[in-house]
Amino acid sequence: MAKEKFFSGFVSLVGRPNVGKSTLMNRLIGEKIAIVSPKPQTTRNRIQSILTKDDFQVIFIDTPGIHKPKHKLGNYMVKAAETTFNEVDAVLMLVEPDEKAFESDAAVIERFKGIKTPVILVINKIDAVDKSSILSITDMYRKIYGFAEIVPVSAKEGDNTDRLLEVIKKYLPEGPKYFPDDMVTDQPERQIASEIIREKALRLLQDEIPHGIAVEIYSMKKRSDKNLVDVEATIYCERESHKGIIIGKQGAMLKKIGIRARQDISALLGSEINLQLWVKVKKDWRDSDFMLKNFGYDPKRI
Ligand code: GDP
Ligand code: MG
Repeated sequence: MAKEKFFSGFVSLVGRPNVGKSTLMNRLIGEKIAIVSPKPQTTRNRIQSILTKDDFQVIFIDTPGIHKPKHKLGNYMVKAAETTFNEVDAVLMLVEPDEKAFESDAAVIERFKGIKTPVILVINKIDAVDKSSILSITDMYRKIYGFAEIVPVSAKEGDNTDRLLEVIKKYLPEGPKYFPDDMVTDQPERQIASEIIREKALRLLQDEIPHGIAVEIYSMKKRSDKNLVDVEATIYCERESHKGIIIGKQGAMLKKIGIRARQDISALLGSEINLQLWVKVKKDWRDSDFMLKNFGYDPKRI
């Protein structure tokens, strides 16, 4: 019997912050890898996740949102996203069935005009609107770009996401299995752990720390005598006043962040976690190349 053909490729997810990229990726992969948060711009890194089926493998790249850069970090994020377009086998452009967002999304789609990579338009959050608005938004997008396909889905409910996967598969070239079957991400565990702490902090702090925290895992070591990992991490913020908010009254907020993060990191590593958190002030870290590299956002890598 002839050997079955295997298909594999890289697919990048593009779209405004909050459009549902992380939710979609988690839905397709079936595990919690990307950070999902109601707060825009939670995703800072190109977290790759990997979906392996019998006859194909897709490597998803969760690109940061493309929008007007305000800081060096913003610039970096835009560049990372644009570089990705030409390197991948397909681009998934996520939009919402919301006419108010059309103009800014159209501006992003404008950037696709020079690339040869097929762009699949994914209209997400169809659970939140009626059918007629899905039709009218589809028409609006169809007029501005030659999308390879247009697929309406609800990442949250899982509506039509199987169909989306079939569509993605059509654009994968024949290729090797790049990663082993059981691997769902190529990000080091440290990086995921730091994203988990960031997510917990952002959620608990709500809007009190406007766009400014970063998390660095200082050390992560497994004890040789038991199933316990010691994790030491520092939360960086920009102002003394922010530090006070993050620590909270008698350390209450920091403790809450720690408890929630510990649960998720423990699930991720399959071991007990002893988590120690510090908070430090580092002014203007978002404008500092050093800090960006320090946290793993190295522009040379893209
Ligand atoms: P990202 O910034 O593009 O990665 O967006 P997220 O995946 O973090 O999602 C942002 C918000 O939109 C979260 O509150 C999600 O629960 C919500 N969301 C994502 N997908 C859907 C969907 O299909 N339907 C609805 N109603 N909400 C969604
Ligand atoms: Mg995200």
